[in-house]
Amino acid sequence: MQKTLSQSLFQTLILGIVIASLLIIGAVWKSANSFVVENIDQDIALAEKVFDKVVEDRQEVIKSVSNVLSRSFDFRRAVGTQDLPSIEAALTSYASRLNTDIIALVNLDHTVVVSHSDIFEAGQQLQSSVALVAKGKDSGFFVVNDKLVQLNLYRVEIPTLRYYMLIGVEFDKTLLNELKTLIDADIIVSQPKTNNIIITTLDAAVASYLLDKEEDPSWLDVTFGDELTYFKRNANISSDIHLPVDITLAVDTTVSFDAFTSIQITILAFALIAMLIALGLSMLLARNVSQPVSNLVAAVNRVASGKYGATLDKPSKLKEITELANAVDSMQESIKSREKHIRYQAQHDVLTGLYNRNYVEDYFSSQMASSNTVQVIAITVLGFRTINDLYGYQNGDNTLKALAQRLQRWPGTSARLAGGEILYISHEPLQEDQLNTLRHILEQPVESNLIAIPVKITMAVVNCPIDASNSEELFRKINIVTDEAIHTGAWCVNYRTELEDRYNRRLSITTELKRALASQQDELSMVYQPKVDLRTMKVSSMEALIRWNNSELGFVPPDEFITIAEQAGLIEQVTTWVMQQTITDLAYFRNKGFNFTVAMNLSTQDIQNKVLLSNLVTLLTEKGLSPEALELEITESDLVADASLAIENLTELTARGFHFAIDDFGTGYSSLAYLKNLPVKTIKIDKSFILSLASDENDQQIVHTVLSLASIFNLKVVAEGVEDETSLDILKGWGCDVAQGYYISRPLKVADLETWLRNSPFGE
Ligand code: C2E
Ligand code: CA
Ligand code: CA
Repeated sequence: MQKTLSQSLFQTLILGIVIASLLIIGAVWKSANSFVVENIDQDIALAEKVFDKVVEDRQEVIKSVSNVLSRSFDFRRAVGTQDLPSIEAALTSYASRLNTDIIALVNLDHTVVVSHSDIFEAGQQLQSSVALVAKGKDSGFFVVNDKLVQLNLYRVEIPTLRYYMLIGVEFDKTLLNELKTLIDADIIVSQPKTNNIIITTLDAAVASYLLDKEEDPSWLDVTFGDELTYFKRNANISSDIHLPVDITLAVDTTVSFDAFTSIQITILAFALIAMLIALGLSMLLARNVSQPVSNLVAAVNRVASGKYGATLDKPSKLKEITELANAVDSMQESIKSREKHIRYQAQHDVLTGLYNRNYVEDYFSSQMASSNTVQVIAITVLGFRTINDLYGYQNGDNTLKALAQRLQRWPGTSARLAGGEILYISHEPLQEDQLNTLRHILEQPVESNLIAIPVKITMAVVNCPIDASNSEELFRKINIVTDEAIHTGAWCVNYRTELEDRYNRRLSITTELKRALASQQDELSMVYQPKVDLRTMKVSSMEALIRWNNSELGFVPPDEFITIAEQAGLIEQVTTWVMQQTITDLAYFRNKGFNFTVAMNLSTQDIQNKVLLSNLVTLLTEKGLSPEALELEITESDLVADASLAIENLTELTARGFHFAIDDFGTGYSSLAYLKNLPVKTIKIDKSFILSLASDENDQQIVHTVLSLASIFNLKVVAEGVEDETSLDILKGWGCDVAQGYYISRPLKVADLETWLRNSPFGE
């Protein structure tokens, strides 16, 4: 578990105080203890001396008694006559006079003859007497009847040795108390080994408790009131006295330790006061340090949960805390600004500063939630990839930035979705003329790095919530409408339900075509349509046309899937396939000895694709064919819409020997005068002018004019869509160079073409 600062501070202080107090107490105890021990040792030394002295005194007294007694006439006579009552009377009288406890007369076989004491009885054999005589000693200590007695032996020789006389003193309480007063220590007389108390100045229970206790009382016993705070020592009574008992001296230390205990209590009291002070101190420190630290922690936690504010309520007195608080404050500031930045980035498109898709989704959802009506306009920059390719990414970016700036001047919310797709949400539905104005503003060429970049946009309009009420639906419908707009080339398309079917068809065409191109398939094939030279009336060329039979979709007309392939970025693959097939077939026919050329259709993107065009050259070279064998058809619009790169490529390929024809002439706006400056030698009049040429005077007039002008500009003219003989004759009559149409032949497979070539009057 973690501690707070004040807890740890408090604990450290307390620990210090406790250690200091214990050290002091220990020191005091040690000195007090050694003082007491020294004292008791002195007591014991004294006690031994005193004891010796007492014994000596006693012996003196007894000696004098025995002298007096043995010299007494009465006694001698009584002994001599063996007059026992007289002996007893004499002994009693002496005993009371001399204050001895024991006087006994024993005969030579140590049987008591006369005794003045309750200890010895007449007729009893005295072991003590035996022991003294055996040892040849005059004096000794004995335990008799659980009493300690000092006995002296005297020989009664009247005139020869007739009796032994034992005179003794009992070590009774009185004597012991006298000793106690002298040595100032309690005395315990006990039997060795068994520790049976014989006599003591103490209470017997206390004495035996003390004897059993091995150790001196501890500091705890002394300080916290064990009642028996005695120190005890064995007294070694010296000299030649043999003691049949243990003598233990016990010194009550209560008094000696009294001073010590009061010191202890004083120390404890001081320690307690010191602890209280420590508590106060740590609380004070806690207020000054841990409170601000806790405030900082709280502030940092607030920051973590996204709330910002002042770190400290009031300035701290501590420098470090203030510095820390300042650091937290500046951290907050930078987090705040970073968060702002991140939030901005999360909602905005970095390039244009418009909102991004995420934001728009949320915004749209909230609009729908509050039942607002909005008009969502998806603006797509047409050919934005081409802008990047042609002018570089920097200019591409500048174009988008410029569009964003223009759009931001309009009321409403705008966002960039991806690439050249911008979303504009208006609360007031824009009418068609307003939309057109917006379009014109946006389509102003963008000036970037001294280049004017042309911009073409298309608008997809979805009205919400009628057309879409959630963002998923919205984006799906935007895709549908935008796709339709791009596909049809309309500048503005409103959402309609039928767009969904067309969109779905385009979607499945894209999916299927992708799959077909990725696999080894026989879904795609090439057919060839003969073109007849009107001077010789013989076939001079074949137009290569692609066919697609899909198992799901059935026959898909080339106009339809080619346009979709162009928009889906699949055209390069399609053209590559067509190139390979056509050149293989051409090589085949050349092998068979046919001399006609082949016309291949290229789409807009193909003419701008350098890699593709250089592959074309490689393929031809591989088959040993020259560029003159190939004619390339491009539509008029390809050259008008954008120009520079296409024309550059065109010029390059023409220099290599390729021929270009302008397809579908008359459907666009270009004039023959304009085409004259291009590296183009041939024009194909669009079949819409030829199909009813025989009957339609209007068409006749146009075709006639075109033919006359073409001859002036020295352009070769091909008429496609010739379905009848009359038209063919007219064209021939007006000097048209080449004719192509169902009247001559429908597009044919390679095998059928061989038959046709052999059988048709137009065949080679
Ligand atoms: P296009 O290049 O103008 O091709 C001529 C179209 O007119 C062909 O249609 C052809 O079958 C048709 N046609 C020729 N003579 C007559 C006639 O007498 N009467 C009628 N009604 N039609 C006639 P198709 O094959 O359906 O091709 C349509 C368009 O598909 C082509 O128009 C061309 O733009 C594109 N296309 C076809 N094959 C390819 C290809 O391999 N590559 C590319 N990029 N486009 C292709
Ligand atoms: Ca063509
Ligand atoms: Ca055509």
